[in-house]
Amino acid sequence: MTIEQIIKKFKESHPDEDFSILEKAYKFAEMAHEGQTRKSGEPYIQHPLHTAFLLAEIKADLSTVTAGILHDVPEDTNHSLEEIKEIFGTDVYNLVKGVTKLGKIKYRGIERYRENLKKMFLAMTNDLRVIFIKFCDRLHNLRTLENLPPEKQKRIAQETLEIYAPIAGLLGIGRLKWQMEDLCFKYLYPDQYHELEYKYEVEKRVERNRFFQKIKNILIPKLEEAGIKFEIEARFKHLYSIYNKMQEKDKQFDEIYDIFGLRLIVETVNDCYKTLGIIHALWRPKPNRFKDYIAVPKPNGYRSLHTTVFGPEGTLAEFQIRTKEMHEESIYGLAAHWYYKSKKEAGNYQSPAWVKEIVEIQKEITNTTELVTNIKMDVFRDRIFIFSPKGDVFELPEGATPIDFAYAVHSNIGNKAARVIINDKLGRLDQELKNGDLVEIIIEKNREYPNRDWLKFVKTKRARDRIKQFAKKSTFDNIKRFLPGIKKSS
Ligand code: MN
Repeated sequence: MTIEQIIKKFKESHPDEDFSILEKAYKFAEMAHEGQTRKSGEPYIQHPLHTAFLLAEIKADLSTVTAGILHDVPEDTNHSLEEIKEIFGTDVYNLVKGVTKLGKIKYRGIERYRENLKKMFLAMTNDLRVIFIKFCDRLHNLRTLENLPPEKQKRIAQETLEIYAPIAGLLGIGRLKWQMEDLCFKYLYPDQYHELEYKYEVEKRVERNRFFQKIKNILIPKLEEAGIKFEIEARFKHLYSIYNKMQEKDKQFDEIYDIFGLRLIVETVNDCYKTLGIIHALWRPKPNRFKDYIAVPKPNGYRSLHTTVFGPEGTLAEFQIRTKEMHEESIYGLAAHWYYKSKKEAGNYQSPAWVKEIVEIQKEITNTTELVTNIKMDVFRDRIFIFSPKGDVFELPEGATPIDFAYAVHSNIGNKAARVIINDKLGRLDQELKNGDLVEIIIEKNREYPNRDWLKFVKTKRARDRIKQFAKKSTFDNIKRFLPGIKKSS
């Protein structure tokens, strides 16, 4: 990897930017890492350069790519963060500092897991770009894993699968998620990986290519006739997702892998619908499989038309039809969204408030722990993340109290909440929680109703609604209790 390759890649997405800072960062980092080598024996500087290249690939901005080149300097060399601040300015400094602070995240059982996730979430709330750097750093480390001893390989793969990949999914960076998962899969379950790889890449390849050719022969002339400019590609399934499906549904490879995936990338939204019309005119659509995510995007902003048709020889073919912009958004997630937005509002993307601009993000995570599901990333800035003793993460608005947290966990926990322990100390039920607090609610088992006074301080609608609902009911039940002949409701 050379600095020229990075600059070339960066210029593809940011042609007007002054990239001399990248060269400067390269010279500085090369000097700082002088004499250091990776386990593979290659010069250390190759690692930060690869990291920066991956960042340029996801269209990260100038400061982020620069910070990618410098990301290991404070930790691994005798050059300080202060030096970086002086030479490269505060924006780059803050990013490198963020990455350094995040430290070396390691999977060491549930305790550390929680601690690490907490670190990740806190870093995200400050500046998501830090997470992008950390992801690209990790991806390059995964790609060079073969040089490490097997035990270390397994540990790194495990923590990536448990911590990094789910968060990449959450942020909609599908590309990073899949790459990480397949790499981890290979190291964690080598036998299963190689078996699937053989079945998918070798046994099915011929069949797949033949079918793809057949579809193209029929479809391409029709699209050309209609004057639609398009790119068509076969969609490759990711081995880890096939493996997961087999595990989940307890099925064999052939039962899972029965649909051919294709993708059409066209120029305009109008062309998307025209293309859909052409496909449906050629092959009968499978009922209930058509989805219009352009008219009604998914909550994370994903847009595309999906349809499954009975293709040539009755084989099912699943089409995704979308524009280039939609395509990039689906691969690069937030990074692309941010990029396109910044292009529209020229030069505005360095605003520290860009996190606020994130569209509502809620990616369904198929394969993993419940830990990171259901976390909305929309109004990041005004949200805090609270941790339960089990390590579950709850997202609440700023100013939320233990009662809000209790109701977020479960209505019953809310209704019966009696005391609270915050970061191992007894707290008050009405106090404001802080980002990253570890909160444990102690319930009074026999109590049935919440306290009406809680309405004075709760912040979430959920908590307020529940308390009101029970407050009404409790008054009614109390009256009933004193009326002879009427049984107390259970
Ligand atoms: Mn690194």
